Amino acid sequence: MAKIIPKIFRINTGSCNGCDVEFVATAFVDKFHITSLNVELVDDVKDANLLVITGPLTARSESFLKNALTKLRKPFVVVGVGTCSVSCGIFRDSYAINGPIDKFVAVDVNVAGCPPRPESIAEGIAKGIKVLEQKLNGEVIPKKIDTIFSDFSAPASFRGRMDLNADMCTGCRTCETVCPSTAIKISEDANGFIHKIWHNSCCYCGNCAYFCPTGAIFSTNSFDTVKLQNEKYSDVNVSHIFYDECTCCGEKYMPPSRGLLSKSYIKEDRNKLNAAICSKCRKEENFKRMYG
Ligand code: SF4
Ligand code: SF4
Ligand code: SF4
Repeated sequence: MAKIIPKIFRINTGSCNGCDVEFVATAFVDKFHITSLNVELVDDVKDANLLVITGPLTARSESFLKNALTKLRKPFVVVGVGTCSVSCGIFRDSYAINGPIDKFVAVDVNVAGCPPRPESIAEGIAKGIKVLEQKLNGEVIPKKIDTIFSDFSAPASFRGRMDLNADMCTGCRTCETVCPSTAIKISEDANGFIHKIWHNSCCYCGNCAYFCPTGAIFSTNSFDTVKLQNEKYSDVNVSHIFYDECTCCGEKYMPPSRGLLSKSYIKEDRNKLNAAICSKCRKEENFKRMYG
């Protein structure tokens, strides 16, 4: 097996510098294990075989990236650091953006996060080194690489990957509207709503959780954000919110959130009744109850 000496060159393709600051922390703080990987940071791209890219790739930086790619030692691997590099993140719709970077370069490892935690950056580089070893030895690149640094954890209050409690969701689309990264997509079919959270676009701002009227969407303290390129488009949380059939008129309807209903109607029997009928029948029922 060929001996591997990973030499890292970092290029900023229009980052806000948040990811770069985290990269520096990763490089200089021992507890993130980067030293155990025996890597070397180089300041000349010609010496590098592991390219770390931060930023969404602005129009202005495109030629710098293309130029760097011609000079790297071969074989090399590319690790995209930060949600911007993966999907352009909050800059996605900007006129100044030509990215994401995988339009121009074969990315090997994506490290999502805005910015990613240093632990994730270290994990991304460790996985990049594994891919580099495979390339050097002419082996097939694996579809998945197991977690390398399993001793990392985040505090309970950490705002990490978002999750959804589909029982609480009413498909109101507030989260989709307030998401600055267009990471949430809600569609509708004959059976109800399909709620998707694209983890490679999320910037962990927490807006969706803050504005969700029912508390259905929430952040977890998971920062499992490092994915090989082939996993990029499958890192999606998909939830189905199914229609109910109105017990009164038989029409299909979106049931109200049980959590929200219990706040609106204190009596349990009213909760049950209102949860089982459509909004039209509910209005009629409430009207009859109030005015006879
Ligand atoms: S991912 Fe976030 S922190 Fe990193 S460059 Fe983009 S906006 Fe800045
Ligand atoms: S935390 Fe929510 S609102 Fe913010 S980017 Fe992620 S999905 Fe969108
Ligand atoms: S998660 Fe909350 S804000 Fe988003 S559609 Fe469901 S209820 Fe509405």
